[in-house]
Amino acid sequence: MALTLYNTLGRKLEPFESLVQGRVGFYGCGPTVYNYAHIGNLRAYTTHDILTRTLRRLGYEVTHVMNITDVGHLSGDNDDGDDKMVKSAEERGRGILEIADFYTRAFFNDTERLNILRPTVVCKATDHVAEMIDLIRRIEAGGYTYAAGGNLYFDVEKFPSYGDLALLRQDELKAGARVGMDTNKRNPQDFVLWFTKSKFENQALVWDSPWGRGYPGWHIECSAMSMKYLGEQFDIHAGGIDHIPIHHTNEIAQSEAATGKHPWVRYWVHNEFLVLDRGKMSKSSGSFLTLQSLIDAGYDPLDYRYFLLGGHYRSQLQFSWESLETARYARRSLGERIQALALKAGPKPSGPAAGSPGGGPGKPVAPEKTGPYLAAFDRALGDDLSTPRALAELWGLIRDPALEPGEALLGALNMDQVLGLGLAAMAEGREGDDPELVREIEALIAERAEAKKLKDYGKADSIRTGLKERGIVLEDGPGGTRWRRA
Ligand code: AMP
Ligand code: ZN
Repeated sequence: MALTLYNTLGRKLEPFESLVQGRVGFYGCGPTVYNYAHIGNLRAYTTHDILTRTLRRLGYEVTHVMNITDVGHLSGDNDDGDDKMVKSAEERGRGILEIADFYTRAFFNDTERLNILRPTVVCKATDHVAEMIDLIRRIEAGGYTYAAGGNLYFDVEKFPSYGDLALLRQDELKAGARVGMDTNKRNPQDFVLWFTKSKFENQALVWDSPWGRGYPGWHIECSAMSMKYLGEQFDIHAGGIDHIPIHHTNEIAQSEAATGKHPWVRYWVHNEFLVLDRGKMSKSSGSFLTLQSLIDAGYDPLDYRYFLLGGHYRSQLQFSWESLETARYARRSLGERIQALALKAGPKPSGPAAGSPGGGPGKPVAPEKTGPYLAAFDRALGDDLSTPRALAELWGLIRDPALEPGEALLGALNMDQVLGLGLAAMAEGREGDDPELVREIEALIAERAEAKKLKDYGKADSIRTGLKERGIVLEDGPGGTRWRRA
């Protein structure tokens, strides 16, 4: 299995090769913890999860680093607007660190419910101010900074390749908008490395620094923390497409200015946005959907994961309740099929099984039968993480009548190491329904089909009615009869 990734730097698909054989350093920008993550943010972290799991499937040892922004992030990425943490703390009448702690927990609660694996390293900005100061010193020593109005700025004119990631042109940049711009800036794209004077006189979190008592600009944290944990050059950096023109552009400029090494990061991976039918979802506007709001509406978090995987990460994805409902239906069918395979495959022997993440039926995967599906699955993921095609291979596998149930199940569990749809739990009946009940319902469905064949409609109807009284609804369709809870 080989991996091709679309690299925003250069705007083309490239074969992935790691800097160090067998290892990958991956940094994904984490949340600003001033509010709950919205479901669009969770699309970004699901993309990071698929990437990490795919790399691990390829055999790489992946160090996945995620920052937690708890200081310095203004609502405008270009140093304008309100301070997100300060504003949230004021509105809620709490301390900043208390707010940060609360929303960090809420964030990991969401990611866990979405089966998103914990990053190898989770690092808070406020724990790394010393590293940020060291890095700013190096940038300053290289002559890339100027002080104005009490703050220290990065001078983009000193960095000729500024804007390469976003395909920004230097001559256009100079002519850029100045409306509402910080008047200390020489160029609109210059950005703050360290604030000592800001419009937020009530800034609660401040540190001593060579430039005075103050706090870091937002972008510097990602450069400082990624380099601390992954080295001065590393393999992959990811985030949403909104980060291309400012945040990631500035990260590159300050990192390469500090180290003199190019490229700082080899592959830049950006996910497209999740949008609502009525437009953009934004955390700071207050109008957004959380994972909890989907759960409150009766959905399983993994229905949402399934919905996300149905779109390619580089395509814009429109959220609607109808499409979430479709995802729920598909995932439920998947669960029924997986449970049926598990029941047909018989009781599982003790001990972990090859190809099964949580331990499962213990027959080894028969490569000659499931192999083509697994190979196509790997090709799909290897082709810039095509989860829609990977899902199609899963469906093909579990529907293939030529496969023994045990083989199909093991193949599916193997695929789920990347998809993370909780198939092992479904197979064991831990999720949803008790396998005994499923077995009984399936037997009744078969009995009803037989009765209908013999034109014994009285019996067929009484089976349907009996199940209905127990809250089980039967639906007849072209593929046979399916059941669901009323
Ligand atoms: P934030 O907490 O605002 O820094 O955003 C966290 C992550 O979510 C970043 O990688 C953003 O680029 C990403 N993001 C923000 N909004 C969306 C959206 N609507 N769809 C997908 N990703 C998003
Ligand atoms: Zn970042």
